[in-house]
Amino acid sequence: KENGRNQFAFFFEDLKLDTHRSIVLDHELRQAIKSKAFELHYQPKVNAKKKIITGFEALVRWKNDQLGFVSPADFIPYAEETGLIIPLSELIIDQACKDWLALEARGYGHLTIAINISSLHFHQDNFIESTLKLLENNNCSPRSFELELTERTIMNNEKTTTRKLVLLKQLGFKLSIDDFGTGYSSLSYLVQFPLNYLKIDQSFIRQVTSLSEKQAVVDAIIQMAHRLHMEVIAEGVEQLEQVELLQGMGCDMIQGYYYSKPLPICEALAFLEFWKLEIEG
Ligand code: C2E
Ligand code: CA
Ligand code: CA
Ligand code: CA
Repeated sequence: KENGRNQFAFFFEDLKLDTHRSIVLDHELRQAIKSKAFELHYQPKVNAKKKIITGFEALVRWKNDQLGFVSPADFIPYAEETGLIIPLSELIIDQACKDWLALEARGYGHLTIAINISSLHFHQDNFIESTLKLLENNNCSPRSFELELTERTIMNNEKTTTRKLVLLKQLGFKLSIDDFGTGYSSLSYLVQFPLNYLKIDQSFIRQVTSLSEKQAVVDAIIQMAHRLHMEVIAEGVEQLEQVELLQGMGCDMIQGYYYSKPLPICEALAFLEFWKLEIEG
């Protein structure tokens, strides 16, 4: 991933003019969408108490012949600027459906796949309709999916947002607030919106075992979320000490390199088999 990013920076380095740069990127992205040059990698979410895998987060990767795997952090912002995020997002949802069917075929139909939804896509008038259509075309149910939305996304246009979130939840989707604690200074929306999960941002987890202030914040977030009937997912968990501390604080789910980096679907399936053996053995 680091490598991909460096090559990417290099590739665009001499494109000094921003407009030129975005024209090239725009062209590359369009081609990539046309040829479906994207892959989803899946990172397991582990129940902190029971140590079972409850689902995966889908994270997109762009396979570029010259650039290798380009990180989403590098191209998602451009895709949002140009509106290409809409067709890209639809590709992603379609692929997530197909990968969920692969999970189901191997006996893992009880697992959910979490999809990151960009703000621009969420706020399209036909977001719910077009998403349902993609699911229906694949014979998938909203119950098999979680939608990850950031604070910034849902703080836009509160009235229609509430309506959309309520409808999505009624349809059976699980709703997560992503990167919690980084985007918005008000907490009022937590009461207003029907959210299932709160994902504590990596920046809080990073020093949770060494800084008592971070620990206090994480502890308070977990308590608050539980009082609001939400479950808490810690992201970016890399160390056993973090797992143990978070579990002790009542955190519901753990996600991070400690268990696994995001994996291509076939490796994710192998990981599930391995996990089952570990638990049984
Ligand atoms: P995010 O949704 O907050 O995703 C978590 C990021 O943290 C992912 O980076 C993941 O690979 C990384 N990560 C997971 N565990 C660890 C860990 O233990 N340590 C560290 N240091 N990092 C960890 P990734 O895959 O590069 O994605 C970056 C961002 O790009 C995502 O942040 C999300 O905002 C966006 N993104 C990724 N896939 C999609 C997508 O399909 N659609 C949209 N709209 N955005 C996406
Ligand atoms: Ca996410
Ligand atoms: Ca996140
Ligand atoms: Ca993030």
